[in-house]
Order: sequence, then C-alpha cells, then structure tokens
Amino acid sequence: MNVFIEPIGTLINEFSKLPGVGAKTAQRYAYRVVNMTEEEAIAFAEAIIAAKKKVHYCSVCGNYTDKEVCEICRTRDESVICVVKEPKDVVAFEKVREFKGVYHVLHGTISTMEGIGPNDIRIKELLARVYKGGVKEVIMATNPDVEGEATAMYISGLLKPLGVKVTRLAQGVSIGAELEYADEVTLSKALSDRKEL
Ligand SMILES: [Zn+2]
Repeated sequence: MNVFIEPIGTLINEFSKLPGVGAKTAQRYAYRVVNMTEEEAIAFAEAIIAAKKKVHYCSVCGNYTDKEVCEICRTRDESVICVVKEPKDVVAFEKVREFKGVYHVLHGTISTMEGIGPNDIRIKELLARVYKGGVKEVIMATNPDVEGEATAMYISGLLKPLGVKVTRLAQGVSIGAELEYADEVTLSKALSDRKEL
C-alpha cells in the first residue's frame, strides 16, 4: 500500500527525478508545493513550462538560448572560440568575466567506454565555424580528465592543418576535476596560462 495519496505520490515521483534529490528531499519539496498558495503553485508550474518551451540550443554555439542566436554569439569577439563540453561550463567561464570570445558547446566528449564517437558530439559544427574563416584561436577547455584530454587532442589534430592556433587550458584545474567546480581564480589562471597544442 502506498503511504501517500496519489497526487502527492506523483509529485514526489517527479521531484525525485531531479539530480541530487533523494526520497526524503522529494517528499519535503512535494509538501512545500502543497502548502503554496494557488498563485505560487501556478507560477512555479508555469516557470517550468516556459523554460521548456522557450529554451533551445543556439544555432551557432550550441549553448542554451531563447533566441535563434545567443547573446554571446551576437555581441562578442568571434575570432576566439572556447570549446567546452556542456552548457554549464559556459556559465563557469562567464563567472570569470575575463573571456571576451565566443563558445562552442560539444554536448559531450569522446568516450570509448560509453561508446561516444567523434560523430556523436558537435565537432562537425566546430569545423564548419572554422572553415567559414575569421577564427584565430580555438581554446580547448574540455575537462582535464581522460575523455576531455582525448577530445582536445582529437579536435586539435583536425584544426591545426587548417592553420588555426589551438590552445589548451593550463593545468591548475586538478586532473579529473570538472570545470564547473573550479573556482574563479583557478579558472582565470588556467585561461591566461593556456598553452599552444
Ligand atoms: Zn551562441
């Protein structure tokens, strides 16, 4: 027998799908929602629906945007492209506030373990941007783990024959660490001390 009445049970089930939310937390969230005023509950539900309907990938860089082309792609220096694994890595770099170039989000890294090959991530799109011309430097800012390094080397091998400078973030972000957890000082230093590949 289920301890929760059906609508609360459904809500708990939905909250438990979120990362880092266990059974207890999901239960707390569900009861909090039930205790909201009707206006609060509607605003909460509508924020989820609006985000889902309006947010998609930027047609140029692959980051999240609610426009066809994102604000960063429209306003910044397109001659320097910083290549990252995921949209949350863009947020990590933007917090540093020093980078004036644009991004390219791969949406993954090459991983033989997980069966993710070069064609499964947005490498073709990156090459297309470089082929178009005007790109002086591509900074490989994938995570400093095995997959991130392998992906950086693979892409570098494709880009260098095109005559573009390819650099890699300096070690500083510790091996195996995810960029999103690097503090701003470390990330800023890794960016300014980047080395040519
Ligand atoms: Zn963009």
